[in-house]
Amino acid sequence: MSFNSLGLSESLLKAVNKKGYTQPSPIQQKAIPLILERKDVLASAQTGTGKTAGFVLPILQILSESAPLSRRPIRSLVLTPTRELAAQVYENVKEYSEFVDFRSTVIFGGVNQKPQVNTIRNGVDLLVATPGRLLDLHNQKLLSLASVEIFVLDEADRMLDMGFLKDIQRIIALLPNKRQNLMFSATFSHDIKKLANTILNHPVAVEATPENITAEKVEHRVIRVDKGQKTELTIKLITEGNWKQVLIFTRTKHGANKLCEKLTKSGVSSAAIHGNKAQNARTAALDGFKKGTIRVLVATDIAARGLDIPLLPHVINFELPNISEDYVHRIGRTGRAGASGEALSLVDHEELDYLRGIEKLLSHKIPSEIVSGFEPKDIPSEPKDNTRNFRRPQNNNSGNRPKSNNNRPNDRRR
Ligand code: AMP
Repeated sequence: MSFNSLGLSESLLKAVNKKGYTQPSPIQQKAIPLILERKDVLASAQTGTGKTAGFVLPILQILSESAPLSRRPIRSLVLTPTRELAAQVYENVKEYSEFVDFRSTVIFGGVNQKPQVNTIRNGVDLLVATPGRLLDLHNQKLLSLASVEIFVLDEADRMLDMGFLKDIQRIIALLPNKRQNLMFSATFSHDIKKLANTILNHPVAVEATPENITAEKVEHRVIRVDKGQKTELTIKLITEGNWKQVLIFTRTKHGANKLCEKLTKSGVSSAAIHGNKAQNARTAALDGFKKGTIRVLVATDIAARGLDIPLLPHVINFELPNISEDYVHRIGRTGRAGASGEALSLVDHEELDYLRGIEKLLSHKIPSEIVSGFEPKDIPSEPKDNTRNFRRPQNNNSGNRPKSNNNRPNDRRR
């Protein structure tokens, strides 16, 4: 299928062409025609599937078909859970709207509100926002949502995880009743379905299989290691493998900071990105990482959510997430846009239940291995084939350590 058959205007096709896309992704093929038919859509799609263009392109088409109203009120609102995702969606809107008469902007907290207010005052057709700043500006009567025709709730599952339900409900109460609604979520829990029922009007459900998980593009690996040795092993893997661009996930902000400090001390340039970092520090870290001046980005799940870092060769789970679906989100950062990638998880004995949950979700076991010199104490006997078999932890009082039959890391540079 080509983009030409989706019913998009020449100006939008030109922008798509400029981006170098040759054909629409599955979610784009499904969602774009439905949105153009003005249907409410409930889409199951995570970052990496091309979901952003899947809603931005048809919105641009719909809104640019009618002449802009003279005072240019906000006609479309895209709500995202994080500042980074908001900034990324806005970047996409700017790129796709390059050849149409269209104004858009983004607002989020942690930065001065004045420039944001000035832009809105001059009139924008589409606003990308995080809930807090949006409500804040609305409460100050600095913006109106009374003309919104199309409402998008992006990464709805993460919105709920971050405790935004009440804010979402407040925002919806500010929108006109008659509007088109689009909701994107990677997972569909009971709460998400309940939220969808309150927002969407006879929605059509569309689904995009998370490409990264099903495709062979991502190699999943587990290295069994004791908690106390993870930092040293991480440094060894990165330096000996000469890995140039690595995204590392930790469970906590404190853990992210600590690891980042140790990496930097070992001469591996790194930056941490999490909720306690000021917005400009987060932006600088992400920019440095994308440009290659920062080799390692250490992130918590929420901060990393939705980050668009194309062609990422290495993702390390320094700690496994305790929610299995978060593994899928993390891995969505690698092997994208047709490139191959590696997802490596460092697993200590306390995390084996999490690993089981993840393997169940993926419907396959992840090859598990041990690195020489980093043998975990909880595996007592010499493993015969530890590259394929998942070994249960056992108490080891003997002090015996297995010899590794696999002296990875290998250099997997492309
Ligand atoms: P998203 O899932 O919206 O975060 O998009 C993930 C990445 O895929 C972004 O870097 C997009 O620029 C890119 N992308 C979106 N649509 C396409 C397409 N049809 N072909 C190739 N890349 C795409």
